[in-house]
Amino acid sequence: MNAPTRSELTLDLAPLWKPFTANRAFKAAPRLLVAAEGMYYTSHDGRRILDGTAGLWCVNAGHARPEIVAAIKRQAETLDYAPPFQMGHPVEFEAAARLVAHAPTGFSHAFFCNSGSEAADSALKIALAYHRARGEGTRQRLIGRERGYHGVNFGGMSVGGIPGNRKAFGQLVAGVDHLSSTHDLEHNAFSRGEPQWGAHLADELERRIIPLHDAANIAAVIVEPFSGSAGVLLPPRGYLARLREICDRHGILLIFDEVISGFGRLGHNFAAERFGVMPDLITCAKGLTNGSVPMGAVIVREGIYETVVNAAPAGAVEFLHGYTYSGHPLAAAAAVASIGVFESEGLYARAQELEPYFADAVHALRDKPNVIDIRNLGLVAAVELAPRPGAPSARAHDAFLKCYERNLMVRFTGDTIAVSPPLIIGRSEIDTLFGTLGEVIADIA
Ligand code: PLP
Repeated sequence: MNAPTRSELTLDLAPLWKPFTANRAFKAAPRLLVAAEGMYYTSHDGRRILDGTAGLWCVNAGHARPEIVAAIKRQAETLDYAPPFQMGHPVEFEAAARLVAHAPTGFSHAFFCNSGSEAADSALKIALAYHRARGEGTRQRLIGRERGYHGVNFGGMSVGGIPGNRKAFGQLVAGVDHLSSTHDLEHNAFSRGEPQWGAHLADELERRIIPLHDAANIAAVIVEPFSGSAGVLLPPRGYLARLREICDRHGILLIFDEVISGFGRLGHNFAAERFGVMPDLITCAKGLTNGSVPMGAVIVREGIYETVVNAAPAGAVEFLHGYTYSGHPLAAAAAVASIGVFESEGLYARAQELEPYFADAVHALRDKPNVIDIRNLGLVAAVELAPRPGAPSARAHDAFLKCYERNLMVRFTGDTIAVSPPLIIGRSEIDTLFGTLGEVIADIA
């Protein structure tokens, strides 16, 4: 069945400027979702669409979970809003306690915001404030990585390394440098799980970046444990541990952006635990409320909050940063309920159990036409296609559209198709997902 055309809709699509969307093409052939439950969306033309992407990497427990819906409803009826500055409400404290308990050992405080982008910028500001509070205010440089994605605000965009997201926006934040991307098909194509080659790429921090800028000027390194938005780029085995060692040697904070990798995507609460490497700060969002209400957070290890807070005079505001909706009651209630669902259902252990089956299913697509790489870890996978000559990303775009026509939602970035279903997915749905994707890849060849 074809996607509905503009004339079949009674809605006025014109006034909305859609984010990260080809607005003209979309409005000519819109794809609207009108309902969702469990593993499925309902499209506005009445089809059931298998959600192969957990929304946008966020609906980890599946859609419309009654426990989460009830918590949001109850909270809206009880306390719809409370100012977060100089005032508080019980649920934001409860959410922070639940989140810190859910975080790796040694993490002690959570700062709330509303998105992954805000979490990235908040984390960068916390890093700067921490060094300043310690009397090392020269540490102002921020190091990201090519092909990294840390949202769209100026800080995150600057440390981010997706060229298309940066080039229209001027000079960005000064004093930023980037590590090389770890993605290398020549060495690592068709790896199962973490690639073997590339741990040495972390050494670039000590070999090139620290000598160039001087460690005494560097505040933090921020990386995604695995890059999601740039096309599921997995860390080479040992790479993150080396980054950690180098940061430790030079007093540089290490930030893991776990906006995608947190809340079970890799079968653990956070990717830090999967890889056995502890950063100093973790950013999260998305799965924090199971996608139900916008919320982001920065979780910091012991000592960071105390250093910033104790450096200020008694009675003074210690960290001049925050949002009108930091710790919003509805978001906080949704976070408490979501973490409750993740924990009580053992969803992360379920993701671990399904990982080998999921990996077999995606790697079975290896011989389909134009497939140049397949990557997997936890319940995330990617199939990279050879670009059509002169038309980068057109092939993956076609695959995305054709999958949607066949009642499957996948994502595409460049020429990579990414899949990251809710962790409640069953084996037969895994079969349907990769079966449909395989047929589509063959059909568009
Ligand atoms: N950081 C990472 C690693 C992400 O993957 C994303 C979004 O995909 C963001 C930050 C930005 O999150 P948001 O879109 O909620 O601002």
